[in-house]
Parts: sequence; structure tokens; C-alpha cells
Amino acid sequence: MTDATLAQRLLQGDRRALARAITLVENDRPEGWELVREVYPHTGKAEVVGFTGPPGVGKSTLIGALTRARRESGRTVGVLSIDPSSPFTHGALLGDRIRLSEHFLDRGVFIRSMANRGALGGLSEAALQAALLLDAAGRQDVFVETVGVGQAEIDIIDHADTIVLVLMPGSGDSIQALKAGVMEIPDVIVINKADHPLTDTMVREIRGVLSLAYLDRSPEEVRRSWRVPILRTEASRGEGIPELVQSLREHGEHIRAAGQLAERRRRNLRNEVLAIATARMRRRLEEGLGEDPEFQRLLDEVVGRRLDPASAATALLARQPSPSPSRASE
Ligand code: GDP
Repeated sequence: MTDATLAQRLLQGDRRALARAITLVENDRPEGWELVREVYPHTGKAEVVGFTGPPGVGKSTLIGALTRARRESGRTVGVLSIDPSSPFTHGALLGDRIRLSEHFLDRGVFIRSMANRGALGGLSEAALQAALLLDAAGRQDVFVETVGVGQAEIDIIDHADTIVLVLMPGSGDSIQALKAGVMEIPDVIVINKADHPLTDTMVREIRGVLSLAYLDRSPEEVRRSWRVPILRTEASRGEGIPELVQSLREHGEHIRAAGQLAERRRRNLRNEVLAIATARMRRRLEEGLGEDPEFQRLLDEVVGRRLDPASAATALLARQPSPSPSRASE
């Protein structure tokens, strides 16, 4: 099979082509990057919603319920489940992803788990490419799930058009993370397992944190800005799902009307370009160093406390040739 046919089949929405394409980007294969380059002009149509939150709060169950609602309205869905801690690869369906099992046989739903790999730019980058492939394959809704909250691996989520933070009563750490500004304020907050007696307390606490975030805005800004809804759901019973669907729609309309979608995507793409460039520069730097005696000498100086690390870095960069533009697809 040539890559051209793979791209064509992908653009026609062929599921096997999609699965193979994601494996290529997951394995950091040059054909994967090539494929993304080819189909990229066809992307940008999907509505990408990112779900983040601690393990066990019910993200997968919620996505399952939302997927059902989307299918009922005739939309096609792609789900990317990103698990940075898992050693499993190749789209292995991890234990808790069984929540999505009712959708496995539905051709309108494509589900894929991605676990940590040593890919260029890391898992986030591979996940971003995978999201593009889902988009190119015509999936109208792309749901990306990550275990987040104050972790480094949160960046894939930043590329979503709408970010949903999923919590359950008692996830106090997440409230602390919000309060401390470790985690950015999401677009929608869902308190799942809302039948729990501590739900009201949780909602009040979150309201408090959100009102703090509004304090440093002008009344005009507050009037125009998106008010983060705090929704209560019981994903396993489908409770609160219509309200979530409604909030997602409203947020989509809000960012489109306010011209924020284009701005948001531009900012995200800028970050992505920089992230890929940074990963490549680092790799190139490391390759260039190898057994380089001059670098070893610099390192000896640092180890011997005669030269500080920052000065060594300055010396190192001073002698690095500037990166050549010729190696476009690595
Ligand atoms: P994730 O790790 O955030 O993706 O969480 P899962 O979706 O795997 O859910 C973790 C556990 O919580 C599972 O056993 C679910 O069946 C259960 N669960 C999900 N939603 C609810 C809910 O609304 N109420 C209750 N009581 N349990 C739920």
C-alpha cells in the first residue's frame, strides 16, 4: 500500500486506514509525519473537546454517555484516550476503557488509547497528530481524554476548542490546583458522581475559586467573558448529560461569536510549532554532542565546580552551528 492510497482512504473515513495512520504517528515513523502533512489542509473541521481530571472520577464513563448522545443526533465521534502512565501501546484498550465498550461495534465511533512512548516531542505531540488524523478522517466530534490536573502532560488538552474538567465530590486536590493557579480555569466543570452527599459543598468551593478568578477583571470583561458552568452529572446513569451537551454547544457558540476560536487555535498552533521545533533542536544538539571532547571538557569543568552550568550552556551554544532547514520531516 502506498502512502498516497493510505491518505486517500483516510480522507474517505476508512477506519483501518485511520488505525494504521495513528500507529504510524504513535511510533514516530516518517510516513506518519508525511501523512499528516498530506491531509493537514483537510483538518480544522472537527469540534475538539478535551476532558481532564484525576483518575477514577468517571471521564471515560462521561465520554461514553456523551458519545451516545452525539450518535443519537447523527454525528460521528472519535475518542482519544491518553494515558501517560501506562506501559501499554498500540491502541491497547486499557482496563477502564471498557466503559466505552458499548460503542466498539458502532462504525460511527472510533476509539483509540495512546500510552507513553519515546516519540519525538513525546506523547502529547503524537496525540496531537492523532487528533488531526481523526479530524481529517471526518470525525465531527473528537473527544480527548487525559489524566491531568497540574501535570506536565496536560498540554494535549490545551489544543481542544473546549476544555472540560471532570471532578467528583472529594477531589480536593483539584480545587487546590485551581486555586493556586497550577491549573488553568477550564471552560466547563463537571462534578460527576453527583449523588454523593458532598456534592453541594464541592460546588460551593468551586464557585468560590471561580469568583476569585473574576476579581481581577473589569466589569466589562466579566460581562463579555464566558461564565464557566458547574454541572452535576451521574455519568453511569446518563444523568446531566443533556445539560453537558447544552453547555458544550453554548461554549462552542460563544467562542465562535467572540472570534476566540480562531485566536485560540492560532495560539495553540504556535505552541505546537514551537514544541516540535524545540524537540528537534534538542535532539540535534544531543546528536551533535555525542562523544564531543570539547563538551566533555566543559562538563568536567562544571562537575569540578570551576564553571557554572549556565556559563557552560552559553559556551556550548556559542559553538553550535545554526540548525539547517534541510531536514524537514524527522
Ligand atoms: P476515569 O478514570 O476518570 O475515566 O473514570 P471511569 O469512567 O473509568 O470511572 C471510574 C469508576 O466510577 C467506574 O467504576 C465507573 O463505573 C464509576 N462511575 C462513573 N460515573 C459514575 C457515577 O456517576 N456515579 C457512580 N456512583 N459511579 C460512577
